[in-house]
Amino acid sequence: MNYISTRGTAPNLSFEEVVLAGLASDGGLYVPEHFQEFSMAEIDAMQSMSYPELAFTVISRFIDTSIKPDVLKDIIIEAYKPFRHTAIAPLKQVEAHSFILELFHGPTLAFKDFAMQFLGRLMDHILDKRSRKVVIVGATSGDTGSAAIAAFQGRKNADIYILHPKGRVSDVQRRQMTSAAEQNVHNIAIDGTFDDCQDIVKGLFSDQEFRSKHHLTAVNSINWARIVAQTVYYFYSALALGAPAKNVSFSVPTGNFGDIYAGHIARRLGLGIDQLIIASNSNDILPRCLLTGTYTMEEVVPTLSPSMDIQISSNFERLLFDLYDCDGVAITNMMTKFRAEKKLTLSPLAWNRFKAEFSGCSISDEDTKRTIATTFNTTGELLDPHTAVGLAAGQRCRRKTSAPLIVLGTAHPAKFPAAVRAAAGIMPELPPHMKDLFTRKERCDELPADLEKVKEFINARS
Ligand SMILES: *Cc1c(COP(=O)(O)O)cnc(C)c1O
Repeated sequence: MNYISTRGTAPNLSFEEVVLAGLASDGGLYVPEHFQEFSMAEIDAMQSMSYPELAFTVISRFIDTSIKPDVLKDIIIEAYKPFRHTAIAPLKQVEAHSFILELFHGPTLAFKDFAMQFLGRLMDHILDKRSRKVVIVGATSGDTGSAAIAAFQGRKNADIYILHPKGRVSDVQRRQMTSAAEQNVHNIAIDGTFDDCQDIVKGLFSDQEFRSKHHLTAVNSINWARIVAQTVYYFYSALALGAPAKNVSFSVPTGNFGDIYAGHIARRLGLGIDQLIIASNSNDILPRCLLTGTYTMEEVVPTLSPSMDIQISSNFERLLFDLYDCDGVAITNMMTKFRAEKKLTLSPLAWNRFKAEFSGCSISDEDTKRTIATTFNTTGELLDPHTAVGLAAGQRCRRKTSAPLIVLGTAHPAKFPAAVRAAAGIMPELPPHMKDLFTRKERCDELPADLEKVKEFINARS
């Protein structure tokens, strides 16, 4: 399978090359040139598959012959072994027609493990074949960094450096990162904000000499392998509720638009999805765009659901590419204009298509807390604040009750204990395998918010 850039001028790449490349050289994102839909009979046959079998079937659609089926099968089986629920992604009913898809049974208690556990093993395999090694660098406000470290610790072809703002990630998130014992893991607490961390990472990537010397690589949410791994659980949960005979709707807590874009891909592969609901907190650039046809950047507001405190949704460019019939020139012009003016207006046709495919709304912190409290009082289930945003948005946006609503449960409540306790009045407990988290030994270096110091640190170790 061939991959093309959303901006139209970067060279086409194979799946393996896309996994290693990240951003395209023209600044665009890679997408597959073609989509091959599953037939009704093929989706029907998925009914009896286990999660790894289904993952193999769906992911294979996007991979050329370069990765042998047996190797891919092994990578997938190993990726989902560390999950602590036999269903991998269980559904839990919370209302007459609403279900939470629990995506937090992986090693770091958030849905990002689904993609990272797969990507870590896949990348190691591709690097092995090419006798290459990489240095992964990333900035995190919590979830991405811990999922990346859990996935890459001990991999032989990658060193990983994760920068977090000192004192500004939760204790659970920090300890998940700093308790990794393997020597290829390097935690750096930066004396500064998350934005300082991000600026330093950008600075590392824009130093061409440093970048090529270390084979710098990112594992952020634009990586295509992460998207395809996330497409699997849309199929899995819809099948559990009667697909392909019945349609379902999804409400997806959204930040970078990676997770919900995976739902859009599931739909393009032939899955019967009624509504795809963009659930945002007060950082509502996407619901505003649905309502007005204009995508306007504003200041980031801190909320109870910090993993969605994002204004520019990087994967949205992939959807724009679809809405504009794969016109790379149009996308290049729009993104250039957006960079300069912080604002872009969709064509009437693109806006109509966007509205036909997606619903969405923005949920305040007040409503998030109320949803956590109500759900706890009526069902005994504790929701994390991101999942609560998803449920509240689903309740508000759904058009009819005939299609069951599946809310993506993106994090375990114990990952955000303060917000959950404030809303429900009880402290969410860590699952048994994490009970020793607070006694594990931590390993972390502290550095000032200074690009040169971070370069020296990496040069001395990789
Ligand atoms: C990353 C994250 C999100 C947002 O997902 P995107 O793919 O960036 O839209 C939502 N909830 C949690 C808990 C997350 O960690």
